[in-house]
Amino acid sequence: MVNGPWGGYSNGRIPTEVLTRIQYQGVNYWVWSTNPADGALDGVYLEPSCAVALLAMLKLYHDQTGDYLPVNEGYRTYDGQVYWKKQDSRNATPGQSNHGWAKAVDMGDTLTLAQYNWIHANGPAFGFTPLGGAFGQYDYIHYDYSGTYNPPTPPAEEEEDMSYSIVPSSDGNIYVCSLVTGINARVGSPYHVGLLQRYKKNNSNDNMLAAEISIVQGYLTAIRP
Ligand SMILES: [Zn+2]
Repeated sequence: MVNGPWGGYSNGRIPTEVLTRIQYQGVNYWVWSTNPADGALDGVYLEPSCAVALLAMLKLYHDQTGDYLPVNEGYRTYDGQVYWKKQDSRNATPGQSNHGWAKAVDMGDTLTLAQYNWIHANGPAFGFTPLGGAFGQYDYIHYDYSGTYNPPTPPAEEEEDMSYSIVPSSDGNIYVCSLVTGINARVGSPYHVGLLQRYKKNNSNDNMLAAEISIVQGYLTAIRP
């Protein structure tokens, strides 16, 4: 059982400053009450490692389906647990909800069967296991985080010598020429020449926009071996 106390906090008494507020399409916190005494929050907050795992799972779902999973609650305050116990006696006794450790999520209000099946199949790889009932039954949208997700380490950046020169040609065009491979590519516009010059001067992507770097990368790909 990995859900439980962490960081010296008690259940439902974790300051949101130490949590991660999840921002991703499909994540919409359900503000169940605007009465401050009921302990509703302003977003879906999770313990940081749980947040990393959830985002990775949400992104995989989007990559595979083009769609987004719904999420409407993560951390629940003690006051929020008191509120929910009053609404439904089956809800956790205040101070004992896994939401109070910020390591549980409610996947929306309802799920489709396909979404439910997907989370059952893929959730465990990210550390999420169902606590609620079978599809359509009480609390079937609830998943606990087991704390076992290890994000993949990104591959080491390849040190690649992409030295190039920008050379005018007698045909009136300007070429970018790899000093490693000797391969040339014609540069399509003065704007692109400017981008290649900036990139070369910085020897990096400092202060360049992603769209600008992407144009440069297109040329560098063309002159690779
Ligand atoms: Zn729940």
